[in-house]
Amino acid sequence: MRLIHTLAGLQTALADREAVGFVPTMGALHPGHGALIRAARQEHRTVVVSIFVNPLQFAPGEDFAQYPRTLEADEALCASWGVDILFAPTVPELLGSAPLTQVVPPVTLTQNLCAPHRPGHFTGVATIVTLLLQMIRPHTLYLGQKDAQQVAILQRVIQDLRLGVQVRVVPTVREADGLALSSRNRYLNPAQRPQAGRIYQGLHRAETLFQQGERQAGVLVEAVAQELAQESALKIQYIELIHPPTLQPLTRIETEGLLAVAVFLGDVRLIDNVLLKSRLPVVAIDGPAGAGKSTVSRLVAQRLGLTYLDTGALYRAVTWAVLRSGVPLADAVGVAEVAASTPVELRWQPDLRVFVAGEDCTDIIRTPEVTQAVSQVAAQPAVRQVLLYIQRQYGQRGGIVVEGRDIGTTVFPTAELKIFLTASVQERAQRRWQELQQQGITGLDVAAIAQAIQKRDAQDSQRQVSPLRQAADAVVIDSDGLDVAGVVAQIVAVWQTRSQFQSQSAAQL
Ligand code: AMP
Repeated sequence: MRLIHTLAGLQTALADREAVGFVPTMGALHPGHGALIRAARQEHRTVVVSIFVNPLQFAPGEDFAQYPRTLEADEALCASWGVDILFAPTVPELLGSAPLTQVVPPVTLTQNLCAPHRPGHFTGVATIVTLLLQMIRPHTLYLGQKDAQQVAILQRVIQDLRLGVQVRVVPTVREADGLALSSRNRYLNPAQRPQAGRIYQGLHRAETLFQQGERQAGVLVEAVAQELAQESALKIQYIELIHPPTLQPLTRIETEGLLAVAVFLGDVRLIDNVLLKSRLPVVAIDGPAGAGKSTVSRLVAQRLGLTYLDTGALYRAVTWAVLRSGVPLADAVGVAEVAASTPVELRWQPDLRVFVAGEDCTDIIRTPEVTQAVSQVAAQPAVRQVLLYIQRQYGQRGGIVVEGRDIGTTVFPTAELKIFLTASVQERAQRRWQELQQQGITGLDVAAIAQAIQKRDAQDSQRQVSPLRQAADAVVIDSDGLDVAGVVAQIVAVWQTRSQFQSQSAAQL
């Protein structure tokens, strides 16, 4: 691990680095930060962590001066978590001379939750994170669900300024009594520490009501308020139920809601939240080529009563649009223009139909002409970007099973269930050989097929665009020695152990 203090050092260290996962922090690291860093470590070749107590995000009278600064301990922790670059600039190094150009988030995202109580806070956060993203140019930015408003705002900044960074949100890490880990927990004295546990108890009470079917904001908020009232030392700043991406208040939860609180315990301000989702889950199945993802995904969807989102059909649809336009496949700009300007749509009627610019192209996208061109079109970053957006739209309501090389890491990083379906090279080669035999294709031996598979794996995991990676929160299923039915049974079993899905599915299927 390299500890770096200057922008010049950072840029030099990053010159030959690709596929960076980036975790911005203010230091005083704890296992909550550790969860973000571990996810980044698992999903990226290079992990950069920044430690910067950002003066721009502290309002006058807040705890900027006494915020804990523990660089030595942080350095040791980062080294133990496998960080490659720890960037800890001084204030003048990063901010130069004031006044600085500011990134001001849209007003609709700063009307609720923390923003009205912390004037200028999110402008400070957006400014500094934008600056760091510009310097580091990571593939993925790792953020904690604990700071849900920060997540929504940074996602919007990245989208609006076209910063081209993926955002990965990591669930909140908690103490045994439920208290969300926070650098500010060190301010709590021994008497306050157990009192702080009440915050999560309040949220959990509402969560339980939600699981029992309660959807009204008033009832859920009141449940938290009642629980917090049990602890007189807690002074409530807000308890709000909002729609997570837009941060607008909800009167009732239709698909998902964020129940968030801020309280004071003495001078210490603590925040926490729970995400209440009433949508059906997204099941994301990743894994190397030839592990049987598409067959398994279709069957899992059938077994669970969900919809199989055929992403391959979307890529074929775009490919057909490109072929029809006459743009040469090698013309990346032309292909990008077609992909971005041709509407493609999947409709379930009830069988899947595929529409390109309003025209039913279900059959034509399966022709050999399209089959031959699809991998070349799908490899184009612009095409993946357009389809990323479309796939996420289908994912918004949930209730889908979807597979691909980067589904759980890039397309649906918040999927409720992620499966990484794998099998040894030998096993995949054997299966492929059998398939070829059944198609009457002989002459290839298993060893040659294995070699080709190995090469493909290496290519897929080193791709610049959407490489194959196992999401840190994926359940790994090794299908060696299992048939398709066995794999499907395992996935269904994983699903069933997640009781929250079961109760939602039972209510909604
Ligand atoms: P901070 O150092 O407080 O600015 O936090 C840096 C990052 O760590 C932010 O994305 C936080 O949301 C995240 N984080 C802080 N506490 C936790 C936690 N208990 N669990 C998960 N992520 C956290």
